[in-house]
Amino acid sequence: MPAGAVQVVEALRDAGHEAWLVGGCVRDLLLGRVPKDFDVAASATPDEVKRALPRTRIIGRRFRIAHVRFRRELIEVSTFRRGNVEGDVSADGVVLSDNVYGTLPEDAFRRDFTVNALYYDPVEDVLLDYTGGLMDIERRELRCVGDPAARFREDPVRILRAVRFAAKLSLSLRADIAAAIGPLAELLTAIPPARLFDEFNKLFMQGNAAAAWSLMWQYDLPEILFPLSKDEDALAQAALENTDERISADKPVTPAFLLAAICWPEFQRRVAPAATAPNAADERLKAAHAVMDEQRLTIAFPRRLSHFVLDVWRLQSGLERRSRRNPKRLLEHPRFRAAYDFLALRSQIGETDPELTRWWTDLQVEHPVERRPLHEAPRGGGRRRVRRGPRRGRALAESAP
Ligand code: ATP
Ligand code: MG
Repeated sequence: MPAGAVQVVEALRDAGHEAWLVGGCVRDLLLGRVPKDFDVAASATPDEVKRALPRTRIIGRRFRIAHVRFRRELIEVSTFRRGNVEGDVSADGVVLSDNVYGTLPEDAFRRDFTVNALYYDPVEDVLLDYTGGLMDIERRELRCVGDPAARFREDPVRILRAVRFAAKLSLSLRADIAAAIGPLAELLTAIPPARLFDEFNKLFMQGNAAAAWSLMWQYDLPEILFPLSKDEDALAQAALENTDERISADKPVTPAFLLAAICWPEFQRRVAPAATAPNAADERLKAAHAVMDEQRLTIAFPRRLSHFVLDVWRLQSGLERRSRRNPKRLLEHPRFRAAYDFLALRSQIGETDPELTRWWTDLQVEHPVERRPLHEAPRGGGRRRVRRGPRRGRALAESAP
C-alpha cells in the first residue's frame, strides 16, 4: 500500500471525515495486480479536502475532484455521490446532474460495476461490499451495479469500460451485460468526442489492445466508432498486437500509429477511383484529410496525431517506389521510421511485397540516421532536419521512431 494513499485517508479521518480507498486500486489488489493509481472516496467536499490536505488541486468540470500529490503518487479524492434520482435523467436515460453529494452506500450504488464498488480502509484493514463485488472478483466476472441496459443508457461509455475491464483483467462479461451491449452500442456516437479520445487511450494504450479489440468485434463496436468493417480488420489487428508488444518491451508508442492502421482501409477505398488520375497525389492528400476530419467528429484525436497519420500515409507511396533517385531524403524524414513500421505491417498482412520492406531495412543499415524519441520530436510534425548519426552500423532497434 503506497504511503500517499494511506496518509490521505488518515488526514481526512483526522479532520473528521469518512474516507476509503475505492475503485480500481481495491479491485486490482484483490485480483493480485499492481494498481495503476489510487482513488479515495470521502464524505469531504473538494474544498474540505483542500482544508485537510493543503497540497490539493481541485479539478474537473463534470465532477469536481480533489487531486492530492505525494511525491510521485497522485491520489484522486471524490466526494460520496448518489446516482440518479428522479428528475436527474433525461427522457433517453442520460444522466443530467452528476454532482449530487450522497452517503457511502449511495456512492456504492452509483458505481458502474460491482468489482469497482468495493471500499477498503487501509488503516483498520476493513473491506466494505454493498453490491456483491467480492463474490464477482472470486468468480472473475464483470457485473453491473443494477440493470445493465439502464446503466449503459445513463452513460454509454460504460460499454467501453466493460470491454476494457474484461480484456485487461481477464474477467468474463455476465450474460446480461453481453445482451445489453449490442442494442445500445449506437449510443456511443452521442458521446462527446473528447471523452471518447480519453477512452481510446485507456482501451488501447495500456498493453491489452488486441484483446480489447477482439472483444469489441463480438459486439461490432469498431464499426460504430471507425470507418471499418470486420473483413478489412487485418491491418488494425496487426497494429494493435504490435502496440501491445511494444508496451511490454517498454518501447515508445503513439495512438496515431493505431489510428493510421484502423483508418487505412477507408483511405484506400477513397483513393482507389483516382489512382491513375494525373493529379493522384493531390487526390490522395484530399482523401486523407477527409478521412481524418470525419474520424475526428467521433473521436477527438488531437491535430498533431492526425498530422502523424497524414505523414505516414503520404510516405507509403514514396516507400513503395523503392527506385527513387534519392531515398536518403525519405530516410531522414522525421516520420520515416513510423512509415517504415507501417509498411512492415502492411507486408505482414500480405498487402505489400516483403522484399520491399527488406530493401528499406537494408538501406537503413547502410545509412543509419539518429532519431529523437517521439516525445522529443518537434510538435506539429515539423519537418526539422534530423541530425545524422555519428556512429555507423548502429543497431536498428535502437533508433526508436
Ligand atoms: P483504472 O484501472 O482504469 O483506473 P478504475 O476502475 O479506477 O480503473 P477510473 O476511471 O479511475 O477506473 O474510475 C474510478 C472509479 O470510479 C471506478 O472504479 C468506478 O467505481 C467509478 N466510475 C468511473 N467511471 C464511471 C462511470 N462512467 N460510471 C460509474 N462509475 C464510474
Ligand atoms: Mg482509477
